[in-house]
Formats: sequence, C-alpha cells, structure tokens
Amino acid sequence: MNFHVLTLFPEMVEAGIKTSITGRAIENGLISLNAVNIRDYSEDKHKRVDDYPYGGGAGMVIQAEPVYKAYGYLVNHIKMAKEDQSTFKKPRVIYVTPQGRVFNQNMANELSQEEDLIFLCGHYEGIDERVLEMIVTDNISIGDYILTGGELPAMVMIDAIARLVPGVLNNEASSEFETFKDNLLEYPQYTRPEVFMGRKVPEVLLSGHHAKIDTYRRQESITRTYDRRPDLLENATLTEEEREFLTRMIFQKNYDVYS
Ligand code: SAM
Repeated sequence: MNFHVLTLFPEMVEAGIKTSITGRAIENGLISLNAVNIRDYSEDKHKRVDDYPYGGGAGMVIQAEPVYKAYGYLVNHIKMAKEDQSTFKKPRVIYVTPQGRVFNQNMANELSQEEDLIFLCGHYEGIDERVLEMIVTDNISIGDYILTGGELPAMVMIDAIARLVPGVLNNEASSEFETFKDNLLEYPQYTRPEVFMGRKVPEVLLSGHHAKIDTYRRQESITRTYDRRPDLLENATLTEEEREFLTRMIFQKNYDVYS
C-alpha cells in the first residue's frame, strides 16, 4: 500500500512514519511513504505558499495554486509508477481537518483496502476552499480539538491503516483481537513476572485452559467496556451467554453501590 502526503513539513511525517513498525514495513516493501513538499510548487520567488484571508480575520491561508500543482504532479507520478496505466483511477484524497468525520477503526479498515491514498495536510488557518473543492474526496478529523497542522493527524491515520496491511505486524493475530473488535475494548494484558509488588497475574491465565482463558478475556472485555466506554456496548457483538453475563454484571455493580 502506498501513502502519499502533501505537506509543508515532509521531514516531520518521514521522521514519524519511518520509525519502528511502520519504518520496518517500508524497508520490507509492504508499504511506501512519499511526502511531497507543497512549497516546492510555489511560483513565488521566496517560496511563499500562504497569504491573508479575503474578508479579513486572523491568520494566514495556504494558497490554492501550489496545492493544486503539487497534487497534479503527485497524481501523475502515481500513474507513471503503475504497470497498467489504462486502468488507472485517481486515488482518494483525504483532507485532514477538524471539520471532517471523526476517524475510527472501521474507517481504518475500509481505507486499508486502497492501493494508494493521498493525505493533504493544512497549516495556519487552513487551505483555500477552491482547491479543496477540486481535489478532496474525504474530509477526516482525528478528534474535536484544533492542532497547529495536519501532519500529526495524517501520521495517526497512516499508522492505524498501515498496521492493518497484511504482514506489517509480526504476529497477524495481534491486530485481530484488540480494542474495537466487536465494539469492545481489549481485555487487560499481563507479562512476566507472575507477581509484581504483591500483585498476582489472574490465576486463570496460568491455567493453560484455553477455553476458560477465552471466556475470562471476553468477560473482562465486556466489563471494561461497560466501565470505560459504555457507549460502545450498544453496538457490541455479544453471544446470548455474554448478554446474560452483562446483565448479571450490571446488576451486581448496582447492588454493590446500594448495599
Ligand atoms: N481554521 C481551521 C478551522 O477552524 O477549522 C483550523 C485550522 S488548523 C489550525 C490547521 C490545520 O491543522 C488544518 O487545516 C488541518 O489540516 C489540521 N488539523 C487541525 N486540527 C485537526 C484535527 N482535529 N483533525 C485533523 N486535522 C486537523
């Protein structure tokens, strides 16, 4: 899978993504990262890319032209790299913006099916609306707060998507049973030693009894989700037995509060 980033700070994106697990995935050819500096496409002799907003107001706005030119170059570059150019379809362009849909695991799953993705990072007060209308296919936010630029949001999304690409995680199973699968949070994890400052690992995990461990972990997931993210439970995928467990657990917790 190929990630392309249109940014004013390519070195920031490269430093983040070319590290650790995603860095190894790049070295192994499982994913690629191509960070394009929008500033390189400025016609201004000082390589300026921003200007004052029409109508007044605080801050600066990134101009349409350098973004459009950088995008044009990039799409052409992606097309030229394809063996069969006759079937080439322009990749989706994600504008990372606090005004978009909030990113989640389902969106990461869906986006991981694409062969190429382009991320467009804003800065200052954002980007001239006209070029956004022309090239953007998806507006995505990483949460209801404002950051100084789109580089961190793009890196967050690339990381979440990249780890779903087959082979990126050493152990394929490690992306299979984790938080948000079935709309549940993951169960607590433990590693050696068996006793840490008087706190013992739950007995069942030492039993070697796989069915019991599975049941224990599912129940821990359900309990944890109820405690920390009860909103998720509405759409959780639970068996009949697990629903009964949930009802009993809620009853017990309420009983404990009032007794
Ligand atoms: N003036 C803009 C507004 O009120 O919507 C905010 C601009 S913000 C200071 C600069 C850039 O950072 C944005 O263009 C966007 O690319 C990025 N950004 C900031 N917060 C973000 C968020 N929560 N999710 C995704 N991108 C974000």
